[in-house]
Amino acid sequence: MESKLVDSFGRQISYLRLAVTDRCNLRCQYCMPAQGADIVDRKELLNYKEMYRLTRVLSELGVNKVRLTGGEPFVRRDFIKFLEMLDFNDLLDEINITTNGALICQHIKSIEKLKVKSINLSLDTLRRDRFAQITRRDVFNEVYKTFELLEDSSLNLKLNFVVQSGINTDELVDFVSLTQHKNISVRFIEEMPFNGVGQKRINEVWDYEKILKNIERGFDSVEKLVDKKSSTSRNFRVPNFKGTFGIIPAFTRTICGDCNRIRITATGMFKNCLFDDGVFNVRDFLRKGVSDDDLKELFLSIITKKPKNGFEAEKNRASKVNESMSSIGG
Ligand code: SAM
Ligand code: SF4
Repeated sequence: MESKLVDSFGRQISYLRLAVTDRCNLRCQYCMPAQGADIVDRKELLNYKEMYRLTRVLSELGVNKVRLTGGEPFVRRDFIKFLEMLDFNDLLDEINITTNGALICQHIKSIEKLKVKSINLSLDTLRRDRFAQITRRDVFNEVYKTFELLEDSSLNLKLNFVVQSGINTDELVDFVSLTQHKNISVRFIEEMPFNGVGQKRINEVWDYEKILKNIERGFDSVEKLVDKKSSTSRNFRVPNFKGTFGIIPAFTRTICGDCNRIRITATGMFKNCLFDDGVFNVRDFLRKGVSDDDLKELFLSIITKKPKNGFEAEKNRASKVNESMSSIGG
């Protein structure tokens, strides 16, 4: 069977986001309630062989880039061994990881030897007390150490900063200032209601426009960069700064037009869009003993149902958006 994953809008799918676990060592306020999100029994999680096989089959259908996320990928035992396994897949051009950075210092050297190109490190503040308030864990020093080690490594470093109304918006300009001497990309993400509870009451909505205006006020000028096709962020640079910054309109969803992404959650739920409530459980299908051709046929069929954008996906849900991002894989 020779075919590529193309949806009904002619979009070629080349990017898989795979959640390797639903567990996490932190309890970020925007992601889950204080007591944590509900986690499933271990045997309900995809195992590494299953993840490897799904990725392999998808790569034969045109996926050439994988982002490993979670939950926190590094809380899953033997995650580095899984990375080494994935590295054997010669159809993958890029493996990237999103992490909270609290557990990875000792692994950076091993990661550098692999096909991993870039690490997205979540960091929403440079203040230790505020970090503890946001994540409900006092591990700022460990995460900052990871930041420094990654900066000195050969890996591309992106910082993910969730813009939280009334909590960290006074640090936007400070984070852009980090790019003056550091070759990093800071990405400001609009907060979404994927927090295990649902839409919060907030006084001020911090959307793309407001984030950009606030940053522009902090500098003499800000230049727009040309965004790569299917980029999730709109990207900018302060003239003469070494690094760049981007804004991810995750909630206002103005980036859906040339989406090239699919997701598989830690329990094997296939998602055509971040905002859908799951299309098909590939774990159950896989565990029936199906062939690679059966899997390909399934993927080629469900991709045709990819919605035009996140608003369409949300409209078709059975329930309101309120699941934790840790169960979806951000
Ligand atoms: N634990 C890892 C981490 O925090 O980087 C990976 C998983 S986390 C769910 C992936 C990304 O989603 C993180 O950058 C996190 O900040 C972001 N995220 C989580 N909840 C979010 C929300 N409600 N709105 C916007 N971004 C969110
Ligand atoms: Fe954990 Fe990442 Fe969610 Fe924070 S954002 S609770 S680190 S999964």
